[in-house]
Amino acid sequence: MERKIHLLSNETINQIAAGEVIESPASVIKELVENSLDAEAKKITVDVAGGGLKKIRITDDGIGMGPEDARSSILRYATSKLVHAVDLFKISSKGFRGEALSSIASISKMTIQTALDDMSGVELDIENGEVIKEKPFARTRGTTIEVRSLFYNVPARKKFQKSAAAISAEIFRTMTILALSHPNVHFELISNNRSSIKTFDLDLYARAEELLGEEFTKGSFPLEFEEGPLHFTGLIGSPSNTRVNKIGQFLFLNQRGVACDPIAEAVRAGYGTRIEERRHPIFLLHLNVPPDLVDVNVHPQKLHVRLRKEDLFREKVSEAVSLVLGQKKISSTEISTPFTSVPIHFAEIPLRMQEEIEVSELSFDQDFTEAMGQAGRFLFFHDGQAKELILVDSEAASFRALFEHLKGKTEGKVESQGLLVPFTITLTTLESAMVLTHLDAIEKMGFSMKAIGKNAFMIEAFPSFLEEGQVQSVISAMAEGLQEFIGGRNYKKERQEKLALIAALYAKRKKRYHTHEAALLLKQLMLCQTPYHCPSGEPTIMRMSYDEIEHFFRENQKNTARAQS
Ligand code: ADP
Ligand code: MG
Repeated sequence: MERKIHLLSNETINQIAAGEVIESPASVIKELVENSLDAEAKKITVDVAGGGLKKIRITDDGIGMGPEDARSSILRYATSKLVHAVDLFKISSKGFRGEALSSIASISKMTIQTALDDMSGVELDIENGEVIKEKPFARTRGTTIEVRSLFYNVPARKKFQKSAAAISAEIFRTMTILALSHPNVHFELISNNRSSIKTFDLDLYARAEELLGEEFTKGSFPLEFEEGPLHFTGLIGSPSNTRVNKIGQFLFLNQRGVACDPIAEAVRAGYGTRIEERRHPIFLLHLNVPPDLVDVNVHPQKLHVRLRKEDLFREKVSEAVSLVLGQKKISSTEISTPFTSVPIHFAEIPLRMQEEIEVSELSFDQDFTEAMGQAGRFLFFHDGQAKELILVDSEAASFRALFEHLKGKTEGKVESQGLLVPFTITLTTLESAMVLTHLDAIEKMGFSMKAIGKNAFMIEAFPSFLEEGQVQSVISAMAEGLQEFIGGRNYKKERQEKLALIAALYAKRKKRYHTHEAALLLKQLMLCQTPYHCPSGEPTIMRMSYDEIEHFFRENQKNTARAQS
């Protein structure tokens, strides 16, 4: 049989390239806004309908294009930004591969309206990557690119788009990052005819507050660091304002929003022991460095970067952060305090209360398991039957028990405390969008809340395992968690689990246990599906048999005897 080798058609090549660069409506927005930034725009408006699948229109007041440039802008490898291969290493503009417009044009219906200074512009209609109509178009300097019916000819890609809420969240985050990357440019995001981001300030700190809310900026410390060609600027969150995930970390390398683990780790290292292991600091950091120290060409969407001289970066970033934090005298309440140690006796409690505890389902034979005492966060038990000493980490155990209780709550609400005087919390626009979308699920965790104006909520009840002062952070953390949440077939269950995990992580820690409380905790723990580890994987319980204890002493005795002889 004869086999023939074909060259792929241009259309196919572009669609393949599109698969790499254009994953979602948010990636279209990112590419087009970056083009506007490269064109020196001072104001960029993004107008989205139907989650971007129906329409995305980007308008800028940048340098614009003449008719010929406009026509070639949609050709593959057409770029005005890169002439020689060596240029690859000193790129300071955002785009340089010349494939964004051609890719997007191959998977959508596109209209470009653009004009240079002289008002005599051009309008192009593009389908399947080719100009199908061209006419003169009068407008002020700048470019408008409209992308309609995204993915209409790549059904597989269209099918794997996330839920509408998740797409909107991703667009919102993309725009937030772009607006933080260039505080000197005005941004507006209009979604279904409603303005959802509109910047007023042209200063990084003011912009951070506009976009990320006071919750982010309040208590944060400004960072300015300069050494040789390295220039860092930004905001470092207070050690007391940490998060359960890394969503509150915004990193920009030469004004490009990037993910770069070594730098994130270096920031963390700069906090030293000021923050707990499981928590992540929040920060907004602009690193401005010579372009040849950074390789942005490793990732098709340029989100991940490789650093030349990584050690130097790490060292300087850590230094900059610890300098900022060291200068500030951090009050002792801001640092998470180690557990106060509690004497190794249980408080006296009436015997009758101890008897009330119902212990029959316990997997330890309760008749023989006796709560003995507490040291710090550890509870001691003695099992006379199994001849074991049992140690329980009360923190890990209560984390596990509460998490399973919350996630297993399939009917009704978690127990909460109603408030005589409700209070209000303020969230960022994105957070409140997430809260509104998932209000029923959040309320199930024991909250009662009402939207009372832009981004403000009245809290009428909250779960009894929280303190009032934590409510704002817990709701923010939940909103953040939901942003990352995509959910598949078990959407509701997964969502509840996610919220349960966050709520349990924030639950107030009990410092002192009475005998009956210790016994109850052990019982709850043993009723869990996964009793032996807390949800973050730390062990909850340790058993030591008499044999092991005896062995320990005997071995030591032998060693001592040997040493003496
Ligand atoms: P790249 O950005 O990698 O050069 P693109 O496909 O994104 O490739 O864009 C191709 C070219 O089209 C750019 O190099 C630029 O010359 C021109 N262009 C695209 N968008 C704009 C815009 N908003 N304003 C002016 N020129 C633009
Ligand atoms: Mg580009």
